[in-house]
Amino acid sequence: MSSYKIALLAGDAIGPELMREAVKVLKAVESRVDANFELVEAPFGASAYFEVGHPFPEDTKKLCLEADAVLKGPVGLSYEETQKIPVEMQAERGAILPLRRLLNTYANIRPVSLPKGLAHFSPLKPEIVGEGIDIVIIRELVGGLYFGAKETGVNENGKRFVKEMLEYDEDQIAQIIRVAFKQAQTRKKVLHNIHKSNVLKSSVLWNQVVEEIAPQYPDVEVKHQLVDSAATLLCLNPGQFDVMVMENMFGDILSDQGGGILGSLGLMPSACLGDGRAYYEPSHGSAPDIAGKNIANPYSMIGSVAMMLEHSFGMLEESKNVWNAIQSVFAQGYSTPDLSKPGSGVKMINTDAFGDKVVEALLAS
Ligand code: NAD
Repeated sequence: MSSYKIALLAGDAIGPELMREAVKVLKAVESRVDANFELVEAPFGASAYFEVGHPFPEDTKKLCLEADAVLKGPVGLSYEETQKIPVEMQAERGAILPLRRLLNTYANIRPVSLPKGLAHFSPLKPEIVGEGIDIVIIRELVGGLYFGAKETGVNENGKRFVKEMLEYDEDQIAQIIRVAFKQAQTRKKVLHNIHKSNVLKSSVLWNQVVEEIAPQYPDVEVKHQLVDSAATLLCLNPGQFDVMVMENMFGDILSDQGGGILGSLGLMPSACLGDGRAYYEPSHGSAPDIAGKNIANPYSMIGSVAMMLEHSFGMLEESKNVWNAIQSVFAQGYSTPDLSKPGSGVKMINTDAFGDKVVEALLAS
C-alpha cells in the first residue's frame, strides 16, 4: 500500500470551511484506493500570524518540505483587518510568496472549465459559451514583479517613491514555456502566448524564448496575443483559447477573469508545480465577505484535491472520478449560492452539503 503525507494549510476566512470538504473527499478516496493519506494540519496565513506570531512558521515550512504534497486553503483578510498586520507579515508577502519560493513551484496550472450543460452559470450569453468553456491558463509563479527587488524611500525632491523590479532570466522563461508546450500537446495543440511586448522589454525576451523553443514542439501552433486584448477576447470569444501561457502578474489577473466568465471564482482550482514538489490551492482569495456562513463554493478546493491525485500521486482514474462526482452534483441541479441566482432554477445548498453530495457520488461510482 502506498502512503502519502499531505500537509493541510487551511488558511484564513473561508479556508477552513473549504478544507473540511476537501478532507471529506480525501477520506472517501482513501477508502476506495490502495493508499494511505497521512493528513497533517499546520498554521499558515493571517490566522497563523495572530496565533503564533508568524504567517509561515518554521514548523510549517519543515512540514511542507517533508510532505509528498501540500493542500492549501486561501489566505488573507479584509483590507481593514490586513492593516493590523505589519506589511512584511501580511499573508501574501509573509506566507504565499515564501511557500512558492521554498517549493520552487514555478508552474501554476489553472483550468477554466464549464461544460455546455452548465452554461447558465456563466454571465456570458449562451451563444458565446457555445459548446462550453475549456481553457488551461498556465501562469509563471516564482518570478516577475511579485518576486523582484523592492525599494521605497524619499527622493531628492522630498517625494515618497517606490521601485519594484520585474526580472526574468531566459532559463526561468524556458522552464514555464516547456510546461505550456507539453500541456498544449495533450490538448488542441494550440498555444496562446500572452505578452505585452509593445511596451515591456521583459515580454520581448519572453517572446524570443517562446520562438526559440517552438521548433522543439512542431505539432503545436503558437499564437501571440497582447495581454490587454486577451482580456477582452476572453469575454467575447473564450472558445478561441485552449492553452494560454503568461508571466506571473498577467496570470494572476487573467485567471481571476477566468473565474468571472465561468460565473464564480469558486470554480477555480489550481496546481502549483515545481520539480518534484507541488502544492494545490483554489485560485481565489479567502472571501472574507462570506466567511463563516457555510456558503462558499468548495469546488475550487475539491478540484484542487483532484489535481493533487493526478499530478502528485499519479492516481489518474481516481482523479477523474472526483471530477465526475463534482459534475454529477451540478448535473442533479445543486449548487452553492454563488451560482444559484434567483430564477435560475438551481437548487441552493450549503458548503458542507455540497461536499457530502460529492462524497456520496464518489462512493457510488
Ligand atoms: P476573493 O477571491 O477572496 O473574493 C472575490 C469575490 O469572490 C468575493 O465576492 C468572494 O465572496 C467570491 N468568492 C471567492 N471564492 C469563493 C468561493 N469559493 N465561493 C463563493 N464565492 C467566492 O478576493 P478578495 O476579496 O480581493 O481578497 C480577499 C483576501 O484574499 C485578500 O486578503 C487577498 O489578499 C487574499 N487572496 C489570497 C489568495 C491566495 O490565498 N492564494 C489569492 C487571492 C487573494
